[in-house]
Amino acid sequence: MSTEHETRMEKIVSLCKRRGFIFPSSEIYGGLNGVWDYGPLGVELKRHLKEFWWRRMVRERDDMVGMDGAILMNRAVWKASGHENTFSDPMVDCKTCKGRFRADQIESIPCPQKPSKMVASCEGEKTEPRDFNLMFTTHVGPMADDSNKTYLRPETAQAIFVQFRNVLETSRKKLPFGIAQIGKAFRNEINPRNFIFRSREFEQMEVEYFCHPHQGMKLLEIWLEERLRFYEDIGIPRSKIRVNDIPDGERAFYSLKTYDLEYEFPFGIQELEGIAYRTDYDLKQHMTHSGKPLDYFDEETKEKFIPHVIEPSAGADRTLLALLCEAFEEEEIVNEKGDKETRTVLHFHPRMAPVKVGIFPLLKNKPALVEKAHEIERMLRTHMSVFYDEAGAIGRRYRRQDEIGTPFCVTVDFETLGEAGPELANTVTLRERDSMKQQRIPIDALHGYLTAQIL
Ligand code: ATP
Repeated sequence: MSTEHETRMEKIVSLCKRRGFIFPSSEIYGGLNGVWDYGPLGVELKRHLKEFWWRRMVRERDDMVGMDGAILMNRAVWKASGHENTFSDPMVDCKTCKGRFRADQIESIPCPQKPSKMVASCEGEKTEPRDFNLMFTTHVGPMADDSNKTYLRPETAQAIFVQFRNVLETSRKKLPFGIAQIGKAFRNEINPRNFIFRSREFEQMEVEYFCHPHQGMKLLEIWLEERLRFYEDIGIPRSKIRVNDIPDGERAFYSLKTYDLEYEFPFGIQELEGIAYRTDYDLKQHMTHSGKPLDYFDEETKEKFIPHVIEPSAGADRTLLALLCEAFEEEEIVNEKGDKETRTVLHFHPRMAPVKVGIFPLLKNKPALVEKAHEIERMLRTHMSVFYDEAGAIGRRYRRQDEIGTPFCVTVDFETLGEAGPELANTVTLRERDSMKQQRIPIDALHGYLTAQIL
């Protein structure tokens, strides 16, 4: 990573901590490597992201339904899916520093003892690569023995496959149709790094779209388009996403075709989402191992077959990091007093922004202004996340909102109270974050205007 990119990343991480987006987990005890907590603003941002994904993937479509599977599942699921035997990364141990590293990343991980060198080229004596299973083991019940062993799920997808028949029968859907799920997943990553990009506990947003084998290839292309449109609609333009058509030999053996959607993070171009054509691999595995039918009978053609699957699988945390990286900017501006200043701003799409509108009385010691501002706050609070602020100069209050990406600010001033004549009474100043332009708008029109922007 170049120094410029490193600095940019450090600034984003520091803003996240300072303003309450993301904190290291268990921080007062020294943290836990690869685990993060979302603070008041981070949780709103993540919620807006997941809610919009759910709206686009489930509610707005008649060929999709949702589910919410448990994190703990019968160990047999992980045997059948192949995770118990093959969900591993190759790692090497360094006998000198006792560090453990992902074998495919030693060219880019600095040596803990001599950070000017990468692990691949430092003097430490390294072992040959060995496989390390990434699943967290746990025990269900009071005995910690092998018969009670299972794992924290390393992906949400398997719950969808094993509930395929239940969902099919209860929802009465016909192929093609999909099942969507958002939930936590856990991987004991050998080298968690790059902030929330690679962590040990994270959230996935996954779709398993079931279809006739003849439709698979065409549907993969349709899903690629659909997913690119999604990123565009949350503020990550198409030009910023690289579609990587994974070549033969690098895909999972059962996948006929896979696209990775990649984003240019400050630390390099990295995967945001994988869209894989997984054929009938998963349903077939579970059918064989459980002995239960997971095939499909087409009433019209009288054909019986195991559906094929397209899987768009996105990470909520990675997407959130991409939103932060895309939005972060330090701008040189001339402030209200005519002085040059650096404005830190998060240019979130209004539908993603954690706070939608800041509400300010021009002065805090004028009860009529404060009362009116609170009235507007109460009116809007039931519809969107708002932030009331009366502390400090108005310019500083704008800056505080810019820094957390609030797209609009409303100021109640003397004109609002009718002191500049009846035409401006009950109007407020509405200030837009990116252009910093201000306009007057009647209080009655505020709700309609803001709702249209944030939907
Ligand atoms: P990588 O190659 O980066 O380890 P992967 O190809 O193993 O990722 P998948 O198993 O395809 O990832 O998981 C789907 C999505 O889940 C990824 O595209 C990513 O957004 C997210 N994801 C996977 N592992 C992690 C992690 N350790 N931390 C955060 N998000 C993750």
